[in-house]
Amino acid sequence: MKELTERIKKDGRVLNEDVLKVDRFLTHQVDPHLMAAIGTEFATLFADEGVTKVVTLESSGIAPAIFAAQAMNVPMIFARKTKSLTMNEELLTSSVYSFTKQQTNQISISKKFLNEDDRVLIIDDFLANGQAAKGLIELCQQAGASVVGVGIVIEKAFQPGHQLIVDMGVPVCSLARIKSLSENQVNFVEED
Ligand code: 5GP
Repeated sequence: MKELTERIKKDGRVLNEDVLKVDRFLTHQVDPHLMAAIGTEFATLFADEGVTKVVTLESSGIAPAIFAAQAMNVPMIFARKTKSLTMNEELLTSSVYSFTKQQTNQISISKKFLNEDDRVLIIDDFLANGQAAKGLIELCQQAGASVVGVGIVIEKAFQPGHQLIVDMGVPVCSLARIKSLSENQVNFVEED
């Protein structure tokens, strides 16, 4: 997605060979116009999949996920990383190890929001080692829902997440694919 790759080139900051900072438009300050375009792109890519719910993980997945859900006219559900006091009903849970934060979170969604009739599109801001997407797929599977795909805003294609998710039998669509972050530069995978 050209608009996105141009924005990464302009406003992304390479922190090291593994981590890209995009807090000017995605993970802290959020550009709603870019998010709306990203939502429309996901809706187009998954138009034939009969999606009934969009699922993401708080907090950076919420912005692209809500615009995708709006474009598909379905609800968006975000998994929580901490248990809210008001979450007193039955929960779907799985654990996710975050390499950026070096901690494991127990993520959860209320059982009442997903069931076996649902066709879920999972959306997240980044795909790195694939642990967040894997945890979200497991939550959906616990509910008996079908996961029709994983939509990622920025994939670091040099890390193993894409293969992990494809090996789970779930297709992955990424709007920007990064080949490397070497020498302080963002190098994108050439798309045919
Ligand atoms: P994974 O579970 O695929 O290893 O990582 C996914 C999560 O880690 C994303 O939801 C994102 O919050 C965070 N993350 C992974 N790599 C990066 C990165 O290079 N930059 C930023 N800002 N977040 C990242």
